[in-house]
Amino acid sequence: MPLVNTTKMLIEAQSNEYAVPAFNIENMEMAMSVIDTANKLASPVICAVSENALKYASASTYFGIVQALASDASVPVAIHVDHAESVPVVLRALRAGFTSVMIDGSKLNFRDNVNITQRVVDFCSPFHISIEGELGAVGGKIDYIDSDLLRYTNPDAAADFVRQTNVTSLAIAIGTAHGIYKDMPKLDYGTLDLIRSKVEVPLVLHGASGLSDEQLCTCVHKGICKVNIATELRQAYTTAIREYLDNDEKVYDPKKYSLVAMKAVSEVVAQKIQVLGSDGKCR
Ligand SMILES: [Zn+2]
Repeated sequence: MPLVNTTKMLIEAQSNEYAVPAFNIENMEMAMSVIDTANKLASPVICAVSENALKYASASTYFGIVQALASDASVPVAIHVDHAESVPVVLRALRAGFTSVMIDGSKLNFRDNVNITQRVVDFCSPFHISIEGELGAVGGKIDYIDSDLLRYTNPDAAADFVRQTNVTSLAIAIGTAHGIYKDMPKLDYGTLDLIRSKVEVPLVLHGASGLSDEQLCTCVHKGICKVNIATELRQAYTTAIREYLDNDEKVYDPKKYSLVAMKAVSEVVAQKIQVLGSDGKCR
């Protein structure tokens, strides 16, 4: 199928009480595992590319890989920029053909966050690009958790933000963090309920790696329609390669250990799809 944006995908998830997984891909192998597994399980899927990944390879490289794989798949696939913090990054992704963007102004004050998000909505909407905004702060960065950064989303501010910006989805902070958790996080379901009652657009959960299946299910039940998974895929991919190389010092063909890494990534992808309930939705 040709690539799609995330608007319809997430609204369908919202009406049918499941969540679409957004998997961060770093390379061709991860994209192959993600799309192939989603296709086998008849799940819609979002391939997310972070701002850091766009420094590793170009937006058009990621786009070319995902587009080619999606054209062989029979489920809807979207390509999405994850946590773009500036307009030039969004523009680079748009020019390459990305179908969905996240503009993350959550480090800014409310007014500046509204302004940058509005700007992105203004130039993306005519091209039918979906736009995710973020309000509140999901803790952590890639490899560490800094709990001081946690700042829960205020439900009234969230409603105001969506009204002023016209984003198509909203990432909220209810106690999750990026990276690896030291302790199991406590999620603020009360805040999630309140946000859901005041905000109509699909809600997005970041920092889901390491949450229990039960926590994920509760979030989906309470109205989360997109869940981002990055750290767990990186861990699965790298651990599999490390183990393979530790056991076979003579191997030199990347295809050998990449196949093992892809299998490990596929297992995580399949498990998340099942927990989020997006399997079987695209038959
Ligand atoms: Zn995130």
